[in-house]
Amino acid sequence: MNSTFRPDNSALIVVDMLNDFIDGSMACLNAKEAVRETAAFIDRNTSSSGNDEEGIFGQFPVMFICDHHPSGHCSFTEQGGPWPVHCVMNTRGSAIHDLLMPYVTEELTFYKGCDKAREQYSGWEGTNHAGQTVGEVLELLDIDDVIVCGIATEFCVKATAEDLLGAGKKVSVLEKALAYVSEEGHAAAMAEMKGRGMAII
Ligand SMILES: [Zn+2]
Repeated sequence: MNSTFRPDNSALIVVDMLNDFIDGSMACLNAKEAVRETAAFIDRNTSSSGNDEEGIFGQFPVMFICDHHPSGHCSFTEQGGPWPVHCVMNTRGSAIHDLLMPYVTEELTFYKGCDKAREQYSGWEGTNHAGQTVGEVLELLDIDDVIVCGIATEFCVKATAEDLLGAGKKVSVLEKALAYVSEEGHAAAMAEMKGRGMAII
């Protein structure tokens, strides 16, 4: 276990570190710690480069996945779904946590759950403002190693990580930078991801 440094030529994929999952309508366990760990991990892996010219295609791309729902989304309880109203677009709840905003770029921010009638747990299904998917951007950046962190381990993190693995990526899970709905669900999801060959770092 060594979560200090990233593998060479890798990208970090930050799943749903959004206010509603941190201190809002669906606040998850360990969320604030996970946000701090994520920021610290990025800092440790970027502080030596310090070259703005490299921009988004610099040494360590950080990709943000954002749950991003219209009001009346099918996943909300009032529509018969399993979750309270959360991450409604253009509200504070759908915004990435302030501590991570310095690392956010439009090109590397991917939105999912934007269609009222469709639930999307996996960031793999999201697209950026240019309509590119995570898979397409990883291809452009020639990156096969990904590190995944975020919220919630047992839902959107696991779904995203599994899709990345299914697409042939080497997946590492940044354990301290995860938040979850329940301890039991988190532990089960960790065991499952490890069992599928993901590295826990
Ligand atoms: Zn959602």
